[in-house]
Amino acid sequence: MPRKRTLTDQERIEHRREAVRRSNAKHKEQRDEYQRRYVVEHRAEIRARRREYMREYQRRYRIEHRKECNEDARKRMQRWRDTHPERAREARTRGNQKWRKSHPEIIQEINRNTKARRKGAPRKHTQRDIAILYICQYGRCANAQCFADLRTGYHIDHIRAIKNGGSNWPENLQLLCPPCNLKKGAS
Ligand SMILES: [Zn+2]
Repeated sequence: MPRKRTLTDQERIEHRREAVRRSNAKHKEQRDEYQRRYVVEHRAEIRARRREYMREYQRRYRIEHRKECNEDARKRMQRWRDTHPERAREARTRGNQKWRKSHPEIIQEINRNTKARRKGAPRKHTQRDIAILYICQYGRCANAQCFADLRTGYHIDHIRAIKNGGSNWPENLQLLCPPCNLKKGAS
């Protein structure tokens, strides 16, 4: 009769695993049924949790992979523009119009500079130059005889007209009240 020997650690682990497997198989149906019920009864909760998890995961992913994400978005936009050229053009026009509406001073500045460049005037000025001019003139018309308050509106005047070789530098600009500017243009 063989002597009963003690089990090695490895064998003990195997035995334990086997026991768990047997127990699992025995209770499988019960467990499956419980899980099915749980899923049905907690559907909304499970979904919300999954959504929350995904949201958090995506948020973290975007922060950690900002560069790739931006690059991906750029590529997606480009693909969309390529496949929808008409709508892309419309969207761009709409966006431009919206931006132009909310930045009238900058648009005016661009228009003035473009106009001056077409007439062959050297250099250009910025909205900041105009603001400085306004302060230097104490918000008054540059015509000393007039000195009208410019708060209700002003025209930007080239002291020496561009057609006479005047530049578009701030040094050649002055702010006139509309009547003075119109008078100057008429003379
Ligand atoms: Zn004036």
